[in-house]
Amino acid sequence: MKIAILGAGAIGSLFGALLWESGEDIVLIGRKKHVEAIRSRGLRISGMSGERIVKPKAVTTTQEVGKVDLIIISVKSYDTEQAAEDALNMVHPDTVVLTIQNGLGNIEKLSEIIGEKHVIGGVTMQGSTFIKPGEIYHAGRGPTIIGELNGEITDRVKRIAETFNKAKIETEITRNIWGVLWDKIIINTGINALTAITRMKNGELLKVPEIKNTMIEAVKEAVNVAKTLNIKLEVKDHVKKVIEVAEATANNKSSTLQDIERGKRTEIDFINGAIVKLGKKLGIKTPVNETLTALVKGIEWKLSTSV
Ligand code: NAP
Repeated sequence: MKIAILGAGAIGSLFGALLWESGEDIVLIGRKKHVEAIRSRGLRISGMSGERIVKPKAVTTTQEVGKVDLIIISVKSYDTEQAAEDALNMVHPDTVVLTIQNGLGNIEKLSEIIGEKHVIGGVTMQGSTFIKPGEIYHAGRGPTIIGELNGEITDRVKRIAETFNKAKIETEITRNIWGVLWDKIIINTGINALTAITRMKNGELLKVPEIKNTMIEAVKEAVNVAKTLNIKLEVKDHVKKVIEVAEATANNKSSTLQDIERGKRTEIDFINGAIVKLGKKLGIKTPVNETLTALVKGIEWKLSTSV
């Protein structure tokens, strides 16, 4: 299977490296500095899967790639539209486009630009950190769940799961990718913005009763929106779940906090912000998510304007 990773940053480079190690025909598409570093010295991985250097092909534009069988989309959600446009160069009639991004709206955007029949949804609990060009840190290991948008178990989804499992990317197939995706986003609405605003680690959110309460209220609003949209959630009690996740990842910094610490734009518009937007459309009030979104946007603004 010829595979392109569109958005070779933290998670995309990790998937690319693991697939390359298992013998797949891989090309990473990323930014100039990272691509140049990989071309000259290889991609260094450290962390839980061990320290080594891998040498997948790396390019900066999709024009250099040609047609591929699978495109893994691993850009931040605010870059999905451009990535989808770029991906068109690599799409043949049977190309599958798999998103492993967090955030709401990515599947819809990819479907609109590339065509719904090409798109498969995915969620990954693998964790990766971008250290510097040519270097990533494998921070966490967990299941990757993929599924057709209509819930069918197709040969193509089975083939991808098989390829991933062979590459030690532990992968399951679901008939309910929308529910799985929403479950993750609902948990993110409780953790990500609050950690970015307070600079607390995930577990610390539980130490201050007022913060814990805010976390719970954000999650309840998101569940309300999901249920009104008739999303079939897999998790039965998201309040219990968000507390469990905060405890289990107590020492982790959420991706939103990491973005803020690096002075980077966050995916807030696609997490809490998306809940607010959908809530407005549905006539559901989401005051906690609205405030959390506003505060993170304020922090982003301040970071982007300070010298
Ligand atoms: P990241 O490190 O910022 O990686 C994305 C990379 O794609 C960046 O280097 C970005 O460059 C590049 N890029 C953007 N548009 C591109 C384009 N059109 N062509 C080529 N390269 C492009 O982000 P990440 O942490 O890997 O996260 C990616 C997505 O996966 C997010 O939705 C995230 O929530 C999700 N995710 C991440 C993890 C994780 O552990 N990191 C785990 C699960 C899910 P610039 O920075 O220059 O824009």
